[in-house]
Amino acid sequence: MTVKVDAEKCIGCGACVSFCPDVFEMNDEGKAVVKAQKSDSCDIKDSPSICPVGAITV
Ligand code: SF4
Repeated sequence: MTVKVDAEKCIGCGACVSFCPDVFEMNDEGKAVVKAQKSDSCDIKDSPSICPVGAITV
């Protein structure tokens, strides 16, 4: 599994960072970026459903 964020779709709501701070972080442009491909504290495959604009794919 590979997590990706489409920066063109991301509206910077921060929901993914709240869901899984191990995997997502906000960059200087207010967009979410992937910083790790795994986490012990969240299930990565659930992350697409967190994003309100469908910017996250797994
Ligand atoms: S949940 Fe989606 S729109 Fe919100 S910051 Fe993450 S990638 Fe961007």
